[in-house]
Amino acid sequence: MKESNISDFYREMGISEPVLRFGEQVLKELKGRFEEIDETAEYNQLKVLKAMQENKVSEACLLGTTGYGYNDLGRETLESVYAAVFHTQDALVRPQITCGTHALALALMSNLRPGDELLSPVGKPYDTLEEVIGIRESRGSLKEYGISYRQVDLLPDGGFDYENIEKALNERTRLVTIQRSKGYQTRPTLSVKRIGELIAFIKSRKPDCICMVDNCYGEFVERMEPTDVGADMCVGSLIKNPGGGLAPIGGYIAGTRECVENAACRLTSPGLGKEVGASLGILPQFYQGLFLAPTVTASALKGAIFAANIYERLGFGVVPDGKESRHDIIQAVTFGNPEGLIAFCEGIQAAAPVDSFVRPEPWDMPGYDSQVIMAAGAFVSGSSIELSADGPLKPPYAVYFQGGLTWPHAKFGILKSLQRCVGAKAVQLPH
Ligand SMILES: *Cc1c(COP(=O)(O)O)cnc(C)c1O
Repeated sequence: MKESNISDFYREMGISEPVLRFGEQVLKELKGRFEEIDETAEYNQLKVLKAMQENKVSEACLLGTTGYGYNDLGRETLESVYAAVFHTQDALVRPQITCGTHALALALMSNLRPGDELLSPVGKPYDTLEEVIGIRESRGSLKEYGISYRQVDLLPDGGFDYENIEKALNERTRLVTIQRSKGYQTRPTLSVKRIGELIAFIKSRKPDCICMVDNCYGEFVERMEPTDVGADMCVGSLIKNPGGGLAPIGGYIAGTRECVENAACRLTSPGLGKEVGASLGILPQFYQGLFLAPTVTASALKGAIFAANIYERLGFGVVPDGKESRHDIIQAVTFGNPEGLIAFCEGIQAAAPVDSFVRPEPWDMPGYDSQVIMAAGAFVSGSSIELSADGPLKPPYAVYFQGGLTWPHAKFGILKSLQRCVGAKAVQLPH
């Protein structure tokens, strides 16, 4: 076989010359941004490596336990590694934590007691937490256990409403939950610095209040994590950033000894806490995934910035915009019509390593008031650190796009979706 040049190869993979040329033009201007991202990845790679070395990760740590899982060296060491990365006293990192929502529910339910109040000073939390809290009636919610909830929305300009936050804090406020990522809302994602300012304000008014950060999609995007600026707990999913694409399940809570011990006693049982929970054979993927997480996150970030700049240049609304600093890996593009949204998702699917031959179709999903289209061809089912996109089929027809285990794959996925959009006449390339 003759070695083909890269543009021939792109053509063979369905990317036309004009789409490729446009993509390369956009990329040229992103060199500086990408260098900064690589530097952050370099910093975070050292941080993870140092944590692994200092905690003496050994070959024996990669073996698993069965049954009760007493004296699981690998599990205990991994939790120390996470604590070192997040600069916390302790961490709980478990395959028995089934997803991000579970990790957050666990952190909340174990650190709140009947009669306590939970406060969100950054507006409505992620959809799935509505049922955890009891904002939407649900079996087993915090509300059912006599834990009340209060919320203070962000100001119209995205700032913190300090006046009303101060008013909302009362003698029952036990825990404050701060969501770093915008999730599927339009508010800006919070930088670690801003989270630090908010926590400092809360602690100045109520020093014994636990500050928890929903860190989903934010890990390793910056050099610091919320626990570096005063958060008592950082909580997240291992099938997002910190699993590096390799963890097939799991969640983590990194925080103070007290908070983590509370969570462990709830996850397993009072009296057992962190001492049980067999790791089976999963530890190599947890360790290696964490090791890869800084560069994987960097790849996803480059993809998000590339997509933002492409669609911004084509005249579409993008959040965050092409120039803004980044604090999570999610990118929203507003198409304004269903054709663009559908074509974009078809392109992401067609670019996948798994299930590239299937076509995503809009469908009715429980909990949504319109049809939703989702594209994901992932090694780990539902993993959103892998290249994925989804959006509800209703105005303004925005797609939410995230992930990419490698930058070349993120780039290919974005070119492929642009190609589909051009083919569907939802997008016109400039001449
Ligand atoms: C993904 C996510 C969650 C929930 O995680 P799941 O693993 O989907 O349960 C919670 N909060 C934010 C901000 C998220 O991005």
